[in-house]
Amino acid sequence: MEIGFYELPPLKYQYNALAPNISEEQLRVHHTKHHQAYVDNANNALKKWDAARKDGTDLDLKSFLKDYAFNLGGHILHTAFWENLAPPGKGGDGPQGALADAIAKDFGGIDRFKKMFSQAAISTEGSGWAVLTFSKQTGRLGLMQLEKHHVNLVPDSPILLVLDVWEHAYYIDYKNLRAKFVEAFWGIVDWGTVSERFEKAR
Ligand code: FE
Repeated sequence: MEIGFYELPPLKYQYNALAPNISEEQLRVHHTKHHQAYVDNANNALKKWDAARKDGTDLDLKSFLKDYAFNLGGHILHTAFWENLAPPGKGGDGPQGALADAIAKDFGGIDRFKKMFSQAAISTEGSGWAVLTFSKQTGRLGLMQLEKHHVNLVPDSPILLVLDVWEHAYYIDYKNLRAKFVEAFWGIVDWGTVSERFEKAR
């Protein structure tokens, strides 16, 4: 990959490692086709930018920036998503330490957090994401319910935990049953990654 462009990050586990919660076929298609397409499209946008600069021509900035935000958002969210997953039984027994305390303070405990995050994921209109975030200004954990990759985004909130609920994330394994996929997600969360992100954010 040329310097100055985005790259598809390799996964930290094998394609079959998240089964049965996410099958090998589902993960492979999601990573190598869907995520790759966002990377390619974000890079195509940069190439268009470079070409327009060289020619001295104007970009249609409204359409360019909309397209760029969508594809780059897709790339960043997928990267965060792969990192906060771990093979079943390998991701730790739920949040520990400071993260567990913050979840208790701001959500009323792990069960209520899971319920609220799940509801945010299941009720996302169309294609989108549920995100656990942290606000430095208030010292509170919070949720985002992103539509597509960038609608309803709170610009100052780092991602601690994210779940992809686009149909492309689960259709091979769960058909239209998004709630079943959300339930399976809790079995493959890498809580260590979530804790590390929380430590960095606060
Ligand atoms: Fe996806």
